[in-house]
Amino acid sequence: SYILALETSCDETSAAVIKNGREVLSSVISSQIETHKAFGGVVPEVASRKHVEKITLILEQAIQEAGISLNDLSAIAVTEGPGLVGALLVGVVAAKTLAMALDKPLIGTHHIAGHIYANRLVQEIEYPAMALVVSGGHTELVYMKAEGQFQVIGRTRDDAVGEAYDKVARAIGFPYPGGPHVDRLAIEADEVVELPRSWLEPDSYDFSFSGLKSAVLNVVNQSKMRGETVNAAAIARGFQESVVEVLVEKAIRAMKEYGARQLLLCGGVAANKGLRTALTARCEQENVSLLIPPLTYCTDNAAMIGAAAYLKWERGQFTPLDMKAEPSMSLEEWSVRE
Ligand code: ATP
Ligand code: MG
Ligand code: FE
Repeated sequence: SYILALETSCDETSAAVIKNGREVLSSVISSQIETHKAFGGVVPEVASRKHVEKITLILEQAIQEAGISLNDLSAIAVTEGPGLVGALLVGVVAAKTLAMALDKPLIGTHHIAGHIYANRLVQEIEYPAMALVVSGGHTELVYMKAEGQFQVIGRTRDDAVGEAYDKVARAIGFPYPGGPHVDRLAIEADEVVELPRSWLEPDSYDFSFSGLKSAVLNVVNQSKMRGETVNAAAIARGFQESVVEVLVEKAIRAMKEYGARQLLLCGGVAANKGLRTALTARCEQENVSLLIPPLTYCTDNAAMIGAAAYLKWERGQFTPLDMKAEPSMSLEEWSVRE
C-alpha cells in the first residue's frame, strides 16, 4: 500500500508517502520556525496562512520524491487533531479534496498516535507497550494493550514538558523553540542549580512542570536583583536533571505495573539528548526494551502520520468525507475498532 500523509497541526507543513506502513518513500517538512521566532512562539493566524502558501508545493514534492503517481495511492491520511484549528483545517481540506478527486479512502489521524507510531518506522512494536509522549503540547504516559489501542494513564496537570523547556529557555535568554538550546547548555554545564522534583502523589502517573518553571524564574530574578550574571548553563542543567529524572522514573514504574514489553519514547522532546541518554541507561539497567525514533521523526512530520494511519488502512476503517478538524480530539476515541 502507498499512503500519502499530510500534517499541518502546528507550525510544520509536511507531506510524506509511506509504503506498507513502515517504509518512508518521501518525507518533506517545511518548518515555519523562522517566521514565528520574531513573536516568541507560534501565532495561529500566521501558521494557517503559511500552511496555505506551502501545502500544494509540499505535497507535489512528496509524490515526486516517492517516484509514484497520485493514482498509485491507496489512501490519503491527514492529521485531524489535536492542534490549532486553523492550521489543521488546511491539511484537512487538502486531504478531502484529494480523496474526492482521486476517489481514494480518507484516514483522519490523531497527531499523538502519529508521534507514537513514529517508532514503527524503526521496527515493529511489541505489545503490550507503554509510550512516553513528550512534546510541545503533551506530556503523557499511554498504555497500549495491543496495536492501535490507546489508554492515557497519566498526563500533565499544567504545562507540557516542551512548553516548560521553551519558557525556561526564554527566561535564560534563548529564542523559540528553546528546547534544543537548554539541552545543549545542560550537557555543557559544569555547575548545577539544584531544583525541586515534582513527583505528585506516590501512585500518580500525572506530571506537573509549572512549579519547576516558577522555581527557575525565581532563581533568574534573584540573580538579576542582586546584579549578578545569570548562570544559564547551571540553571539549564538543574532544570533538565529534574525533568529527566521524573520522566524516566514514572515511565519505568508504569512499565512494571502494566507489564509492558516495550517502552516507546516520542514527541519533539524525545530529541533531547539528556533524556535519551538517561532513559537508555535506565532501561538497560532494568532490562527494558526501548524504542526511540530517529531525530527527524521526533518533531512534527507527516511520515509518522502515515505510519499511524496504516493501522486504520489495514482494517478498512476509513473516515467519511465530511470529516472536520478536531482541535481537541482524544487519543482513546481514535483507537482502532476491534
Ligand atoms: P504536540 O505534538 O503536543 O501537538 P508540537 O507538535 O508543537 O506539540 P513537537 O513538534 O512534537 O510539539 O515538539 C516541539 C517541542 O519539542 C518544542 O517545545 C521544542 O522546544 C521541543 N524540543 C525539540 N528539541 C528538543 C530538545 N533537544 N530538548 C528539549 N526539547 C526539545
Ligand atoms: Mg512544531
Ligand atoms: Fe507534535
